[in-house]
Amino acid sequence: MFRLLAEGVSEGIIVVNNKQQIVATNSATDQMFGYAKEELVGQSLNILIPSKYHHAHGGHFKDFLAKSGKRKMAEGRELYGARKNGEEFPIEAGLNPFPLSGSTYIMALVMDVSSRKAIEEDLKLKSKALSSAINGIIITDAQQEDNPVVYVNSAFEELTGYAREEILNRNLRFLQGEDRNQKSIEELRNAVKNGESCEVEIRNYRKDGTLWWNKLSITPLKDSNNSVTHFIGIQNDITERIEAEEERNHWNKIFEESLNEIYVLDAKTLRFISANQGAQNNLGYSLQELQQLTPLDLKPEYNKASFKKLIAPLYSKDRGKVQFETIHLRKDGSTYPIEVHFQISSIGNKSVIISIILDITDRKNYTERLERTVEERTKQLRQALEKEKELNELKTRFLSLVSHEFKTPLSSILTSTTLLTKYTQEEQQPKRDKHISTIRNKVKYLDNILNDFLSIERLETGKVKYNLVEFPLSKIINQVIYDANLLLKTGQTINYPENIDDVMITFDEKIFELVLSNLIHNAIKYSPENTKIDIQVKETGYALQLKVIDQGIGIPKEEQKFIFNRYFRANNALLNQGTGIGLNIAKQHLENLGGNITFESEENKGSTFTIEIPIIVEEKVNT
Ligand code: ADP
Repeated sequence: MFRLLAEGVSEGIIVVNNKQQIVATNSATDQMFGYAKEELVGQSLNILIPSKYHHAHGGHFKDFLAKSGKRKMAEGRELYGARKNGEEFPIEAGLNPFPLSGSTYIMALVMDVSSRKAIEEDLKLKSKALSSAINGIIITDAQQEDNPVVYVNSAFEELTGYAREEILNRNLRFLQGEDRNQKSIEELRNAVKNGESCEVEIRNYRKDGTLWWNKLSITPLKDSNNSVTHFIGIQNDITERIEAEEERNHWNKIFEESLNEIYVLDAKTLRFISANQGAQNNLGYSLQELQQLTPLDLKPEYNKASFKKLIAPLYSKDRGKVQFETIHLRKDGSTYPIEVHFQISSIGNKSVIISIILDITDRKNYTERLERTVEERTKQLRQALEKEKELNELKTRFLSLVSHEFKTPLSSILTSTTLLTKYTQEEQQPKRDKHISTIRNKVKYLDNILNDFLSIERLETGKVKYNLVEFPLSKIINQVIYDANLLLKTGQTINYPENIDDVMITFDEKIFELVLSNLIHNAIKYSPENTKIDIQVKETGYALQLKVIDQGIGIPKEEQKFIFNRYFRANNALLNQGTGIGLNIAKQHLENLGGNITFESEENKGSTFTIEIPIIVEEKVNT
């Protein structure tokens, strides 16, 4: 029965005597060591021990015999067996001494542990790998309450700044600190609850409080019943990547949200590769549409040749940048002024042009406004200068006029006064009257010239002040005609206007007199004897119209356009005295007061001068 039993067990059984001779083996031993049945019997035990241990083994054996207890062999040491073919293999042995027929025998139970050792080695290796991995690795026990950490590698300690003891037996959620409101935490919780694997990016905090981004993947480990026993968590520090991403996003946002237009275009084909929102908004094209275009489609001021020439420095690398101003053409056909900045760059191996474009409408408007203002100021200055010049000229002319125009009337006044003294007789009164009339006439003439000059001076210096009053039209007409009578040539008559007795006008009295006397004096001066001068007055709806019609020399057609110019005198008028000032100032005054002056004339037939004076309707207050 024992023999059967010995053959049945998987351990090797070896019995040796006190001389270390094998006295019995079972077949498990024979197989384990590679011997045939009974081959080992009678052999020394040394045959089963690798020769390098022989020496030591003898001592151990004696020791054992002396103590003679049942125990495991080679406690604390590795034990090796030697097969018949010389191969060594790890074994475990238990020793049982027993006496039989007065002698001591030892039964050794031997197990081949090579495969277990191999597993152990494997485990050791894996464990070493785990602990020396550069990723933080933890294992949690899913079957304990709150899933505590039961393993942590050194990379994890390093990553988090916590020591092993501070991590073990805790739930890993402490890594999130107060930052609990994260979507990925929810995801993680669900995976743990459902025993699933998952991968999340989560904000974690080191022991010193600094933030790090953890790309955490957890995988459940299941037993044979398919229930989760552990989770393995692998942590990756992706802070740098996330920060780079954030920075990229930031730049991207700046690019997209810039109100300036930013483009990237292929340096070879010049086609747009991308364009920011600002560009799409300004131009009215979508990105897809723009990708079919080149800058030439947007810059109507350039053709292919001129554009190529413009951007040539970008390619020759002697200048990395090209800057210029032009206009952009929107999709709707409208344009706007722009400032363009081109720069060469590259994406991967591709050479690209970065283009930044500023809408300079406002700047342009400002510049144009400034230019206009400068122009306006320059004009004003020029005018002021001109006025200054004219005043100077006026003075010079006045002096030459005084010496020239005043000469004739003054000498005739002198003659008349000299002659006056000769007419001492009473009956010579008519002669005296004639000379007195001549003197008055000439004085009046000189007075008129002086008035005209004063008028110009006032108009020029802006000192003229008008004084609007209501007066009867007939008052001034009477006065002017009365004075003019003295100037009439033989046979000349002035036809007084009809129906003006009740006409009242609101105007500057002095100016009206000046204008009217100018016109009537001219009519007299530029008409021969025996002609008539008509004065007609008519009220149109808004103005009072007054015509002075003569039958005089008229004004040559080609000179008519100059007649209101200051100092201008027509060719056919040069035999008469005059200054060329009267009509000019009459026109200025009338226009200043809302009226106007026009004429029609035909040489040798006569002229008609027409003035219009606005009718000012005064509001009557009802009492
Ligand atoms: P002046 O009579 O002192 O020369 P005015 O300014 O009054 O200056 O007139 C300018 C010019 O217009 C005159 O020199 C003359 O050539 C022309 N002129 C004005 N009134 C008449 C008129 N009634 N008939 C013909 N020519 C006229």
